[in-house]
Amino acid sequence: MSYTAELIAVGTELLLGNIANTDAQDVSRTLSELGINVYFHTVVGDNPERLKQAVAIAKSRANIIITTGGLGPTFDDLTKQTLAEAFGRKLVYNEEQAEIIEGFFKRRAHGAAMTENNLRQAMLPEDCVVFSNGCGTAPGCAFEADGTHVLMLPGPPRECRAMLASCAAPYLKKLSQSEIRSHNIHIFGLGESAVEARLHELMESMENPTLAPYAKEGEVMLRLTARARDESEAERLMAPVLEKVKSALGDIIYGIDAQSLENRAVELLRESGKSVAVAESCTGGLISKRLTDVPGASEIFPGGVTAYSARAKTALLGIAPGLIDKYGAVSRETAAAMAEGARGLFGADIGLGVTGIAGPGGDGSGLPPGTVYIALAFDGGSYCRRPGIFRADDRSHTRMLSASHALDMLRRFLTGLQVESEVF
Ligand code: ATP
Ligand code: MG
Repeated sequence: MSYTAELIAVGTELLLGNIANTDAQDVSRTLSELGINVYFHTVVGDNPERLKQAVAIAKSRANIIITTGGLGPTFDDLTKQTLAEAFGRKLVYNEEQAEIIEGFFKRRAHGAAMTENNLRQAMLPEDCVVFSNGCGTAPGCAFEADGTHVLMLPGPPRECRAMLASCAAPYLKKLSQSEIRSHNIHIFGLGESAVEARLHELMESMENPTLAPYAKEGEVMLRLTARARDESEAERLMAPVLEKVKSALGDIIYGIDAQSLENRAVELLRESGKSVAVAESCTGGLISKRLTDVPGASEIFPGGVTAYSARAKTALLGIAPGLIDKYGAVSRETAAAMAEGARGLFGADIGLGVTGIAGPGGDGSGLPPGTVYIALAFDGGSYCRRPGIFRADDRSHTRMLSASHALDMLRRFLTGLQVESEVF
């Protein structure tokens, strides 16, 4: 039996644009992990008539309907009544849930006292599976009627997420009876459309597994997903596709299930027993931040400096006084001297140096805003990369991509790949 789910988020505040529909994202992600198709999301206000219409439409094209919101105690919380009515179920008082709700308020000695309408939350559709709410008071529930499974989850994202993981996902897993496995292929150095162009035919011909691209800031991730009876069968289906993707993209793949460039860089540093130090100008500490986001960074990262002014660059990093005057603060020579300076200052095996013009204005040198030089120094010299000009109107984009290039150079160096065409 193949299952298709449809989501209905209930809440006028969603329609007014007061909040984003993050519950839909959480629910959809879980459904995709379970291999359940989702073709439509609907948002409807706290209005029983319109909710009924949305349910009727969902029922006509899906066999799982999942609602979020409107399970609470207030007058506008109408989801249970409306859904029960739409499927010809009565709401019945659930003693056990009433006790749980009363207990919740008793434990909150200094919190709000329970009011009678809180007990309305213990009214649930007859013969339903109750989803207890570990974080709040409103229970969720699920029932099957006319061949449709209806699941109701609370609106507050923390409650929705917890109930999704502990109750709704196990309920749905029993229905779908298949395993979904996926691998994330992380790519740096090629845009989404170029990646897609290289894999177009492969992607188009695939049904199971599937391969889908996701663009992240400056990166592309391909998600390879297989549906199968069990995990090993899913892996068996994915293995040949993974090989094809690897041979089509080569060394711009920086990792499989690697999380991020910084995770991969730290992993490689730890494996090789090498350390890295950083000297940053236009990235303002972002490379240090990203490296130290990774647990275990202390083993491989003695430190970094943000040397923004020319004086800071010479004083902190021991750059020869005339060098910046001669070549300019934003130059290959200065980036390399910064990387070498960081290496010396912290006694690290590898140094990274970044200098550039984050924009929007120029620095008086005549170089266009968005120009960045990134250097990697090691005991045999240094490599320098000048990526294509970044967007001059977006400082955070320039910073992020510059940091990513630095981490990518590090990754290439540590895996023995060509970092840049020449060492100097
Ligand atoms: P409560 O018991 O808090 O009333 P509820 O299940 O009745 O929970 P709502 O009243 O619809 O849920 O929403 C409660 C709060 O949860 C909203 O004010 C909003 O902040 C958040 N919320 C509701 N729906 C969503 C959603 N789809 N995505 C993100 N947040 C949501
Ligand atoms: Mg509510």
